Amino acid sequence: ESRVNASQGRYSRAVLSARFAEAALPDLKTIDMRRAPPARGGFLSPVLLGQMRQTLEKKEQSLLFLNRRGYAPLTLCRVCGHRFGCPVCSAWLVEHRFRGQLVCHHCGHNERRPEACPECGTLDHLVACGPGVERIAEEVVAHFPDARTIVLSSDLMGGVRRLRLELEAIANGEADIVIGTQLVAKGHNFPNMTLVGVVDADLGLANGDPRAAERTFQLLSQVTGRAGRTGKKSLGLLQTFQPDHPVMRAIVSGDAEAFYEREITERERAALPPFGRLAGVIVSAATRAEAEGHARGLRRAAPQASDLFVLGPAEAPLSLIGGRHRFRLLIQGERRADMQGFIRTMLAEGPKIRGSVRVQVDIDPQSFL
Ligand SMILES: [Zn+2]
Ligand SMILES: [Zn+2]
Repeated sequence: ESRVNASQGRYSRAVLSARFAEAALPDLKTIDMRRAPPARGGFLSPVLLGQMRQTLEKKEQSLLFLNRRGYAPLTLCRVCGHRFGCPVCSAWLVEHRFRGQLVCHHCGHNERRPEACPECGTLDHLVACGPGVERIAEEVVAHFPDARTIVLSSDLMGGVRRLRLELEAIANGEADIVIGTQLVAKGHNFPNMTLVGVVDADLGLANGDPRAAERTFQLLSQVTGRAGRTGKKSLGLLQTFQPDHPVMRAIVSGDAEAFYEREITERERAALPPFGRLAGVIVSAATRAEAEGHARGLRRAAPQASDLFVLGPAEAPLSLIGGRHRFRLLIQGERRADMQGFIRTMLAEGPKIRGSVRVQVDIDPQSFL
């Protein structure tokens, strides 16, 4: 989207495509995880591990990127199947093993990781499902016990100061393998980092967000582009179960133009921003019935318009946050449509806000989560 807005003078042109035009591009390849699967219980393909070994032997640095904090995104009981969810959100609790806690990344709720299942009482049968950066670090240390491995994550103790020291240490070559979340995509320069492995390149490709493809493309381009900033020959490897997905193909071919052309055509057809207008109206309340009832009332109060239409109400992508149930109406229309006036009328003619009901309007939102 920033590309089109730039040509309309709203933002300066994204630096993304400039990097693609530079000479020292990294070699980018996908690893098809169906053909080169990790060992049982692991998340790193033998192809990636092999490249990491070669990089170590050359005394150069590797970066493993995974945009997931903590140890594991889900904990369940192997005996009864109980899953640990947040008591006030519709989200699973993320295990942070170092702190011994289960944490909700949406509202901050945290609790001690118990020894026994709260549902069936069985001891020592809780299993961690899926990887976070802490778990990837564990796997790396098992494969490369002598390498100097460091985890960069925004929730580690020590805050900004410690983070700055660690970034300096990495730039000075004091680490061999860096495992990091989104933080590492933000413009730090590591001249000796010649291998970037994206642990789960599929993360973010399918989450019901119309802008997911663009954000995934930009994030992965930033991360893998990091390997291209050095004078040395560098390699970016993307672990994926969907090597034929258009986003993967665009990244690997380095063809940002083709990606944007395709995205722009799709959006013109769907009248999505920046070619159309889109607004989300979120109704939240203490009970599901209140939230849904109010959202339906708003829908009925929507004025007649030829250039705007209402979708929903449906449960919002995160249907429960902080104990509040959330329903969402989407309003979509042409660029020139009077979105503000439409919503103002709908709110004025709709049911009065009472009890625990809250209404939140987000016009042309950047994120739909
Ligand atoms: Zn159980
Ligand atoms: Zn929560």
